[in-house]
Order: sequence, then structure tokens, then C-alpha cells
Amino acid sequence: MGMLEVARDAIKDLPVSEVIRERLSLAFDRLEEAERQIAILQTEKGGLQAQFERERLDHEQTKKELQRLHELLHEEVRLVRGVEFRKGSRTGNEWQPFCPKCHLPVVFSRDPSDPIFCQDPTVCRWVSGEDSSRIQHESRNSLK
Ligand SMILES: [Zn+2]
Repeated sequence: MGMLEVARDAIKDLPVSEVIRERLSLAFDRLEEAERQIAILQTEKGGLQAQFERERLDHEQTKKELQRLHELLHEEVRLVRGVEFRKGSRTGNEWQPFCPKCHLPVVFSRDPSDPIFCQDPTVCRWVSGEDSSRIQHESRNSLK
């Protein structure tokens, strides 16, 4: 028997007026309802705590993954005579030339007096302002 039931039982035999008995009974009803609400809220709180913990772990995992990707994709970028040079894990940690406009890799021409052309001659059409030998020479000197 719960405390409320004991109390309800006790007021039956109390030498008090009907009005007082009625008020006590009403107070017990309210107390019972409040206890029911507390039980519901505690259950909800437990569910939310578990959900929060799952979200927190998920967030932690996402942060670690982002950090890993950030380190993987990190590149140093330098411009040498208008040509974009990049160095990172995808270039094998070597300085490699890229188009400064569309960022595709570029290749040096066999003829050192040729300019450097973007690999995409239809859409990007970028061409270096200086000949490839000069850019190559300067990149060797300035990029370590
Ligand atoms: Zn390009």
C-alpha cells in the first residue's frame, strides 16, 4: 500500500467535518496527479539524456572525421608568376603546378619557350603570361 492510499484510509476514520474530509481528499487527488506527472517527466528525461548522449558521441565522431579529412586535404598554396603551386598529400608532398583559374593540374611544355596551358582548353582556356622555362626555374628557386 502506498503512502497516499494509507493517508486516504486514515481520513475515513478521522473525526473531522465532511467539508474538511472532502478538502483532504481533493488534496490527495492533486498529489496523486502530481506524482503521476513526475513519473512521466522522469521517463521523458531519461529518454532525452540517452538521446543527448548518442548525439554527443555522434558529434565527437564527426569532429574527429572532419579533423582527419582536414589533415588529409590540407595543401600549401603558393603563386609563382601567376601559376598556382600546391603541395600536400595528393601531390605526394611535392610542389606541383595547377591552373590558377580552374585549379586543374597543368603540365610544362617540352618547349621551354612555350607558355603553360591549362589542361582544359575548351572551357577554362587559361594560358600563363610567361614562358614555362622561366616559371619552372623560378619555382625551383622559390619553392622548397
Ligand atoms: Zn584552368
